[in-house]
Amino acid sequence: MKAFTYERATSVEAAARAAASVQGARFIAGGTNLLDLMKLQIETPTHLIDVNHLGLDRIEETPDGGLRIGALVRNTDLAADRRVRRDYAVLSRALLAGASGQLRNKATTGGNLLQRTRCPYFYDTRMPCNKRQPGSGCGALQGMSRSLAILGVSDACIAQHPSDMAVAMRLLDSAVDTMDANGARRSIPIADFHLLPGDTPQQETVLKPGEIITSVTLPRPIGGTHVYRKVRDRASYAFALVSVAAVFGKDGTARFAFGGIGAKPWRVEAADAAAGRGAKAVAEAALAGARTTHHNDFKKMLVERTLASVYRQREARA
Ligand SMILES: Cc1cc2nc3c(=O)[nH]c(=O)nc-3n(C[C@H](O)[C@H](O)[C@H](O)COP(=O)(O)OP(=O)(O)OC[C@H]3O[C@@H](n4cnc5c(N)ncnc54)[C@H](O)[C@@H]3O)c2cc1C
Ligand code: SF4
Repeated sequence: MKAFTYERATSVEAAARAAASVQGARFIAGGTNLLDLMKLQIETPTHLIDVNHLGLDRIEETPDGGLRIGALVRNTDLAADRRVRRDYAVLSRALLAGASGQLRNKATTGGNLLQRTRCPYFYDTRMPCNKRQPGSGCGALQGMSRSLAILGVSDACIAQHPSDMAVAMRLLDSAVDTMDANGARRSIPIADFHLLPGDTPQQETVLKPGEIITSVTLPRPIGGTHVYRKVRDRASYAFALVSVAAVFGKDGTARFAFGGIGAKPWRVEAADAAAGRGAKAVAEAALAGARTTHHNDFKKMLVERTLASVYRQREARA
């Protein structure tokens, strides 16, 4: 690990100012992703700004009936919150499908949204990787790409977005609330928050230097039957090969979001529109434009089968 300096921020404004003014500064929350990357020297911050003591660890009701989740709310606390379990069960289930109990106790809402890909070549510093070292090439394109993305990919990068939580938040049309170094706040629809790789896979979100996530806002509950189905290589402590978040309304409508297959949490309106025609039709709509490799072509069939399982779960609950 490279040497770095450390400060414990005392206000959100001061944290954002410090991050914008010190070259190479990074926020640290639970540290469950950042510290691993620092040990491998994939991330080499010069200065760490600890954001754990800023009072951003509360879950509050909003005036229009939604919930505001502080950026420092731990994944365990969010999954267990009575209001989340009752009104946003898909989010609670997605969180509990991620990582392990110990990790969820540390991992935060903001850090989870910004966790980096699990592409094996991103972690192997002997291999080329455009995301880790822009312009160096992509080891995965001609390598082992079984776990990687099939939607939203580019010639520069086919890495998948790893978060389970973000898939449920995408389904629920959440917004990411931020503050920049000048104290200006903005609310970014989660659909616009993560970027596709294009020619610049190192740029993963629309956050500006120094901009800090303060909370994530969920709109008012949408009701319905909530399902989160995650398919992975072992029953726990593994990232999704494919995951499906779904909410089924009483009137036959449904909405779907997907993990493990997209360069960002994936949702398309055409898939929602196909809900009445069953799993195969939803899969076809969701997979429009999919670009697979020899190793990950199986994900197309897996999406359809996972959706079939999701429909069965909905029927069982009804
Ligand atoms: C073995 C293992 C298995 C895992 N399995 C899963 C899984 O199955 N599913 C899943 O979804 N996740 C999984 N994870 C990932 C885990 O969920 C993330 O590591 C965690 O959510 C990151 O949160 P953190 O608070 O620890 O982030 P940190 O490591 O502290 O930070 C991550 C990034 O976010 C930035 N950051 C943090 N907070 C803020 C903020 N408020 N504003 C702006 N930037 C911020 C940091 O600068 C850093 O770049 C796994 C992790 C491990 C180690
Ligand atoms: S897929 Fe992306 S993260 Fe993986 S090696 Fe290629 S450029 Fe790097």
